[in-house]
Amino acid sequence: MDLRLRELRLQEEKEFLESVALPAPDGTSEPLGDNVLDQSPVEEARRGSREQAIVPEPLMTNDDWQALCVPKSPRDASLILDAVKRNKFLRCLGDGQSQPLVESFTAQQYQPGDTIVAEGDDGHTMYIVAEGELRVTQKGRQLRTLLPGDVFGELAVLYNCSRTATVTALTLVQLWAIDRQTYRTIITENAKRHRTEVLTGLRGVKPLKGLSDAALSQLLDSAEERTFTHNEVIIQEGDEGRTFFFILRGQVEVTRNVEGQEEHIRVLKAGDHFGELSLIRNIRRTASCRAQNEVTCIAVAKEDFQELSPMCARETGSFLEGSPTPLQLQDLLPVFYEDGEQQGKPVVLGTGGFGTVELVRTGEVLHATDRVRCVEGGQDHLFALKRLRKDHVVQKHQQEHVLMEKKVLQESRSPFIVRLFGTFRDSRHVYLLLEFCQGGELWAKLREVRCFTEPMAIFCSACVVEALDYLHTQGIVYRDLKPENLMLDAKGYVKLVDFGFAKALKRGEKTYSFCGTPEYLAPEILRHEGHDYAVDFWTLGVLIFEMLVGRPPFHSTEPQKIYSKIMDGIFSFPVFMSEAACSLVAKLCRRRPGQRLGNTSSGIRGIRKHRWFSTLSWKKLALRQIEAPTVVLLKQGFPYANFKRFSISGQLPEEEFSGWDEDF
Ligand code: ATP
Ligand code: MG
Repeated sequence: MDLRLRELRLQEEKEFLESVALPAPDGTSEPLGDNVLDQSPVEEARRGSREQAIVPEPLMTNDDWQALCVPKSPRDASLILDAVKRNKFLRCLGDGQSQPLVESFTAQQYQPGDTIVAEGDDGHTMYIVAEGELRVTQKGRQLRTLLPGDVFGELAVLYNCSRTATVTALTLVQLWAIDRQTYRTIITENAKRHRTEVLTGLRGVKPLKGLSDAALSQLLDSAEERTFTHNEVIIQEGDEGRTFFFILRGQVEVTRNVEGQEEHIRVLKAGDHFGELSLIRNIRRTASCRAQNEVTCIAVAKEDFQELSPMCARETGSFLEGSPTPLQLQDLLPVFYEDGEQQGKPVVLGTGGFGTVELVRTGEVLHATDRVRCVEGGQDHLFALKRLRKDHVVQKHQQEHVLMEKKVLQESRSPFIVRLFGTFRDSRHVYLLLEFCQGGELWAKLREVRCFTEPMAIFCSACVVEALDYLHTQGIVYRDLKPENLMLDAKGYVKLVDFGFAKALKRGEKTYSFCGTPEYLAPEILRHEGHDYAVDFWTLGVLIFEMLVGRPPFHSTEPQKIYSKIMDGIFSFPVFMSEAACSLVAKLCRRRPGQRLGNTSSGIRGIRKHRWFSTLSWKKLALRQIEAPTVVLLKQGFPYANFKRFSISGQLPEEEFSGWDEDF
């Protein structure tokens, strides 16, 4: 995101908080920790706000690309491995992934006084100190010293962030370095290869025959990889069966007790499976299984194994036809502030990564059919015009995402998704003409009242469930659920806006880009393992928690700490949260994507039927017949009453003619 805009937004956030005279919910900010290098550059201004979304960055697609292979001495290899393992979000690599990773670190040498990383620079590389001593400073202030084995700059291998501290060599220094593209490519390729291998293996498993690829993939998502040591008993004859096993590596001996004697039956190897009988027939284990060497298995819990019925693969349905709008850009007139300092200036509803959103209205030329549609959209002929700078879009390689946002909005017809009435383009901008959501951002309302009452949270979550259900049925993952991307309409109903990260995905398929907002990132995204529809249910859990508590469950001022909390998956519920709400959040924020409510075999129905929603009529909600408990949050008056005031600089962006926006 544009740094200037971000700072502007954060500053405004701070002023806004001060103006409503509320202590920031995370005012108890944690002391500066060790990893201060890649934080948000506006630490002080960040209280109460949060770091902006991480934009998906395309992976290197060049087939010829080969990871550098620098062989390491055992000592160097273990220094690198130990350093990587000590780091929460780096250490979660499977064993097979460590070796190529270690080999792709390259050696770098610096003289005393050399600067390795400078505050404000874009970060691309992570370093491990092999020898020597370095100093970390921030705004001239000394923070800490780095010694052999220490890691610095590690956020840079996750995503494009700016350095927030400077690192200088104090002595002659040897470093091991790895850049983001290399890191990501290795991790992602490994994860893909591993997944394909396991799925191929599972396809040949008899008790799973007939399952669609999507269902198999679902099974794998709910499974766990487990390792057993030599001689360890995996299954004990006579025990209750709780797990089904598929062997990835190693050998397993099967024995049975015959008249007090342990009788050898056979040896199972990689690709074989065991443990299904007692699950299928609901009987006790009829044999014992023991590891003959180190054994790694895919372990599927009984419930997941039993519940799994071939899910009908929901094909991407045909989208509703978007009718072409006869509206022209020049038919749209700005709406002006009628009071306050900005009086007479055009109303700006919001600013985002690539431009601004302005309030506009149609002039005299409004066609009768449009009028009907506009009224249906809420406010009589008022619209939100989202204007995106093409130069920024191209510079940040976000063409595909902008086109995706347009496509998803154009093809969506849901009362819980902001309506798109038309698109335009000129030499500098592309435009999306959107339904005006008069109630403003849910994020702003949440900051105002600090946390929502339970009925409010139930209502808002239910709207989101409706929107997600709609999108998922259309074959779209949303990937950026958070209060900032939810708007209220004039009736207080919630709508999803901002589809920049949405992605069309077939059932059973995974996507690999690292994107989202730190506090809302699902663990599988952090692990670069590939993710899918399940991330939307994880983020729904985070959202429900944040609405009820006023801050998300995994929270810190430092991204690294957020990530390690997410990886640990441990969070506590405040005492005031109802038992039903805790239960739902815990079921949505399960670490294994396949076990998350919404993503199990009962699908989204599982969420709808949860007791937290027992007071809500889903039918009435879909028909918009419920009186929204959020109406009390809405300010009356000018149409922009629920928005902060922005002023925009008149600077014209560069013209851009590459033609990516022809569809607009
Ligand atoms: P970012 O990259 O920061 O998420 P963006 O460029 O993708 O931003 P949006 O999030 O779509 O842009 O919009 C920016 C802001 O504009 C919103 O947070 C909201 O305040 C306002 N806004 C967007 N769409 C509407 C709408 N339909 N009605 C009213 N306000 C809107
Ligand atoms: Mg946004």
